Formats: sequence, C-alpha cells, structure tokens
Amino acid sequence: MFEKILIANRGEIALRIQRACREMGIKTVVVHSETDTEAKYVKLADESVCIGPAASSASYLNIPAIISAAEVTDAEAIHPGYGFLSENADFAERVEKSGFVFIGPRPETIRLMGDKVSAKDAMKTAGVPCVPGSEGALPEDPKEVVKIARTIGYPVIIKAAGGGGGRGMRVVHTEAALLNAVTMTRSEAQAAFGNPMVYMEKFLENPRHIEIQVLADSYKNAVWLGERDCSMQRRHQKIIEEAPAPEVSRRSITRIGDRCAEACRKIGYRGAGTFEFLYEDGEFFFIEMNTRIQVEHPVTELITGVDLVQQQIRVAAGEKLSLRQREIVLKGHAIECRINAEDPFKFTPSPGKIISYHPPGGPGIRVDSHVYAGYTVPPNYDSMIGKVIAYGDTREQAIRRMRIALSEMVVEGIKTNIPLHQELMLDHRFIKGGTSIHYLEQKLAVKEEANKGK
Ligand code: ADP
Repeated sequence: MFEKILIANRGEIALRIQRACREMGIKTVVVHSETDTEAKYVKLADESVCIGPAASSASYLNIPAIISAAEVTDAEAIHPGYGFLSENADFAERVEKSGFVFIGPRPETIRLMGDKVSAKDAMKTAGVPCVPGSEGALPEDPKEVVKIARTIGYPVIIKAAGGGGGRGMRVVHTEAALLNAVTMTRSEAQAAFGNPMVYMEKFLENPRHIEIQVLADSYKNAVWLGERDCSMQRRHQKIIEEAPAPEVSRRSITRIGDRCAEACRKIGYRGAGTFEFLYEDGEFFFIEMNTRIQVEHPVTELITGVDLVQQQIRVAAGEKLSLRQREIVLKGHAIECRINAEDPFKFTPSPGKIISYHPPGGPGIRVDSHVYAGYTVPPNYDSMIGKVIAYGDTREQAIRRMRIALSEMVVEGIKTNIPLHQELMLDHRFIKGGTSIHYLEQKLAVKEEANKGK
C-alpha cells in the first residue's frame, strides 16, 4: 500500500479523500491555492504545498506545479478527486511518466471516454444501449446534417464531443432552427473545450437520469454497486441524488448493471467509474461515462457499505478487487442534497464569510463538508460547500430524516440553497418518486410565473 498520497483537489472532496487515507494509515499531502491556505483539510494534512494564486488555471489546473509538489514531498500517488484535472488524460499521462501512480483509469481509457463520440462507439461495441443519434460526429455538409436529424426525428439535441459539466448542449425542435444551432454549438465547443466536434442525439422528452457505479481492478475484475437516480437537476446540473432509484424494477437495473461491469472488463477499465444513462419507458440509454469519483458517491456508500474512495486507492495500488458481485447487497435508501452557496431561488452565487455554522446530525445523517464558522467561501470555485446525506431503512424514512437535518442546519453569513431543498423534501411529486430530469425546471418556472402575478 502507498505510504503517502497527494490530493490534487480542494473543498469537501479533498477532505473526503484525506479521511480515507487517514483511515488506511496513509500520509497525505494537500496542494492548495493561496486562497485556500486556511482550509481545514490543509491544516489537517501531514504536508501542504501552495501551488499558485486563486485562479484555478494557475493552481488546481497547474500540472507542472502539482507534479513538482509530488516530487518535493515524495508522494507516491496522486488522487485527482472530481472536476479540475480528474478527467484530463494528459495529466494522468504526465503523472505516470513522472513516476507516480494516478488514482484513476489508464490515460487511454480517460481519453476514450472523455470524447463522448468515441465513448458511445465503444459502449455500443461493448453491448451497452445508447441514445439513438448520429453515427459519430456530425459532418460539415449541411444537407447531411439535415438528413441525419430527419432520420432521428425532432426534437434533437446537439452535443459537444468534448463537453462536460452540463455545458455545450442545445435542443432543436424544428428543421428551421437546426443549422444555426449546430454552428453555434460548434463554436461554443471550440471556445470552451478546444474541440469543435459535435454530435446529435434524439432529445428524450421525459427521461430520468439513472447511473450505475462500477469498480474495477487491473486484472479485469469488475463489479457494479447499484444505481443512483440523479434526475433532480437544474441546467443539466444535479442537485439531489438518491439510491436506489425509485420505481424501477430490480430486474432491469440488474440487466444494465451487469452490462456495465462486462463493458469494464472489455475495455480494461480500472478504478471507480460511472455509466450515466437516460431512462425512459422502461429503457436505458447510455449518455456518457465519468472516469472518476463522483460528487454523489456517498449515497452508494451508504446503501452498499463499501468505501469507494478506499477502493479506488486499493485498486490503484495494484490490489485485486476483494468484492464479488454476489456480495454487493443493497440495503436501505439514501438521499443526498448538495448544499450550494447561492440564492435558493435566483441561483446567483453567494460567496463570503460564514458567520455561524451548525451542521445537522443524528441517526442516519452524514455531512461531507469542509466549511466551518469563520470560513470564507471564495468566489473563484464551484459554489458547492458540502453535502447532507440521509440514510433510512426506507425511502420515506430517508426523506423524513433529511427534513429534520435540513431544519437543524444553520449557515449564516451567506445564502444557501437549503430552503430549496426543504421545499423539495415536501414536494408531493418528489415524495412519490420517479420525476423526470425536467421536473425541477418546470416547477421553478411555474413558481416564477406565480410570483410575477403577485
Ligand atoms: P455533461 O457531460 O455535460 O454532464 P451529459 O451528456 O451527461 O453531459 O448530459 C447531462 C444532462 O443533459 C443529462 O443528465 C440530461 O439531463 C441532459 N441530456 C443529455 N442528453 C440528453 C438527451 N439525448 N435527451 C434529453 N436530455 C439529455
């Protein structure tokens, strides 16, 4: 096992990885920007290295500075967390070429899955069902593009091959709007991801977002650890996740889960990963694979009892998976609310100093957060300040516990989206379970309309 791991991330996930390391008796090095010097996990780390100013491009995305930090501290492996460099194949390659272990898949796998066009191709070949769409990237010829859209049938969605984080997507309802949308998505994709390639999919009108968690080692052993329902989204960004997915038969989940594990063996996948699907009318359609730990991993940990971050570290150290598929038993229900520093209904970011902070607790409550009273949420990064996860024997119990947790939680000095979560935990459609990916935006639109009338 490693003696020392460098954590190339910040915020709650840096703390989460650090906790896994400490439990395993591994020393930690945390790299941080000038703004994050005072962070709790920086103080708790065995060593810390400041790698640059606040701007991510100069610090958390600064590959040479991160590699140097690993060199001067004698770290053996680098955990990239999520976001930042976690799905950057060039970074993974540089890490390995510099003699460190990258805690994640092989660089080739990251590259294959990072391009959504090649990822879909690989999945089709591996027998995973995909959203109907263009065969590969869209051609330059406008006539061909029109033809492809007619074959798929409107509405369609134009997506950037290199896209991520819910950006680089455009829905098209009519042929008249098609070519303009393709041109715009192409130039946006070039600007945001340095890759103008776009592809087309059928736009599913009422799907749910259901994803499968996998774990694989370097010896072609792979298992899947149940599913997560992440349909509660705004602007393609998840805000509530839960496991298991309500109102889906275990048989169809098992069928798709087994396919994912099989696909991992076929592509020689290593580490933790997530196959994301849209689920509509009883069918699963692959949209993309995330080759890293995800924000929502705790809900899976709570219903399986498996520590996913520790498993990532074990597999990266060359250990064989100790878990067998039949040993993975899902028990109970877990729900996660992402707590963001933002206006709960206008969604404008609300960075600043937290004056008082009281996290919730009690049976079945887990809080993953790096903040504390006196902590200043910097304006430079993602607005998420933590996650509240509620576990119960049943979904009803998890919801009840989440309501209590949210009512106990106090964050003063900045605005947070806790009031929105409180409203959703009382929403009759959410309570019923199985809402589509459009539900939250539709609900918010109705609310805005009603407020206008006042
Ligand atoms: P990203 O990598 O930016 O997260 P994804 O391909 O995972 O992009 O899609 C993110 C979200 O966008 C999905 O969860 C879903 O809400 C929506 N979406 C993507 N593809 C489709 C589609 N074909 N039909 C309907 N919604 C889609």
